[in-house]
Amino acid sequence: MSIKKRLIISNIGMIVIPILGFLIVEIILAYLLFVVFNGNPQGKDLSLFIQFRFIAMVLILIITNGLLTYYVSKSILVPIKKLSIAAKKIREGELEYSVKSNKKDELGELSNTFESMRIKLKEAKAEQILYEQNRQELIASISHDLKTPLTSIKGYVNGIQDGVANTPDKLKRYLDTIYKTANDMDGLIDELFLYSKLDLKRLPFHFEKVDLYPFFADFVDELVFNMESEHGTAALIANKEESFIVEADREKLKRVVVNIIQNSLKYMKKDHKEIQVYLFSKPNEVVVEIKDNGIGISKEDIPFIFNSFYRTDTSRNSSTGGSGLGLSIVKKIIEEHGGTIWAESELGKGTSIYFKLKKVI
Ligand code: ADP
Repeated sequence: MSIKKRLIISNIGMIVIPILGFLIVEIILAYLLFVVFNGNPQGKDLSLFIQFRFIAMVLILIITNGLLTYYVSKSILVPIKKLSIAAKKIREGELEYSVKSNKKDELGELSNTFESMRIKLKEAKAEQILYEQNRQELIASISHDLKTPLTSIKGYVNGIQDGVANTPDKLKRYLDTIYKTANDMDGLIDELFLYSKLDLKRLPFHFEKVDLYPFFADFVDELVFNMESEHGTAALIANKEESFIVEADREKLKRVVVNIIQNSLKYMKKDHKEIQVYLFSKPNEVVVEIKDNGIGISKEDIPFIFNSFYRTDTSRNSSTGGSGLGLSIVKKIIEEHGGTIWAESELGKGTSIYFKLKKVI
C-alpha cells in the first residue's frame, strides 16, 4: 500500500475508531445507567459514572492515536533508517549492505532504486579493480617485451666493442642480429601503438559496403602463390550465389585477416600446410572461418588467446616470435565492427578462428 493511502487510512482511523469506541462506551454506560442504577445514579455513583466516561474517552483517543502513529511511522522510519545506513556505508566505500525491499510503496521503490545503484557501483568498482590489474600487467609485459631485445642488442654491441666479432663474417652476423632485433622491437612498438589506440577508441573507422567474397578471393590468391614454394595449399570455400556483403572498414579488416593468417603460418609445423577460408551466409550475418592444420591450441588456452600479451607455452618456448598482441588487436577491430570472434581448436590437428559480421541486406 502506498504511503499516501496509509496516511489517509490512518487519519480516517483516528476519527472513526474513537467514534466507534465512544459509541461502545456510551452503550456500556447506558446499560449501567438503566440496569445497574435504575436510570438514576446518585452522589458518589454519579461522579464515578462521569469519571469513568471521561477516562474511557481519553484512553480511547490515546490508544488509537498511539497505535496508528506507531504503525505508520514505523513503516516509514524503518526503511529510511536502513537507507541512511546504506548511504553511510557506500560513502565509506563498503558496497555489500543490501537494501532490497519487497514493499510496494514509494519507499520500497526508492530502496530498490538505491539497491540497483549499489549493484552498479559494485560492478563499476570490480571493473575498475580489473582495469587497474590489467594496466599493471600490461606495463609489466611491455617492460619485459622491450627489455629482452634491448638486453640482446646491448650484448651484441658489447661483443663488437670488446672485439669478439673479430672477423668480417662474425661482425656481419652480429650486425644482422642487432638489425633484426631492432626491427622486431619496431614491430612490437607499432603493434603496441595500434593496440593502445584501439583500446582508447582513438582510431577512426571508415565503414563501407564490403563484399567478402572478392575480398577473400584476392587474399587467398596471394596466399596460394606464397604457399606454393612450401608445397602448401590455400582455398576459399563459399557458395558464390549467396550474399556476403557486410559493413566494414576495409583496411582494418585486412589487418584482421593478415594477423589470423600469419598465426596460421607461424604455428604450423606440418609438411603439408593447409589453410581454408570458409564463408557462411546467415540471414542477418556473415560468418568467416579461417582454418589451418597447424599445431592447435589446448582447451585451457583457448579462452585466453584473445587477451593482450597472452601467448601459449608452446609459442613462448618456440622461436616463432610474437608479441601476444596479434589476436587482441583482431578482437578489438571485430568488436568495433559490432561483430564477435571466437576460436575452436584441437591440439595436433589445427585451429579455426571464426568471426561474424552484420550482413547488409
Ligand atoms: P602472437 O604474437 O604470440 O602470435 P597472438 O595474439 O597472435 O600472439 O596469439 C596468441 C597466442 O595464441 C599465440 O601465442 C599462440 O600460442 C596462439 N595461437 C594463435 N593462433 C594460433 C594458431 N592458428 N595455431 C596455434 N596457436 C595459435
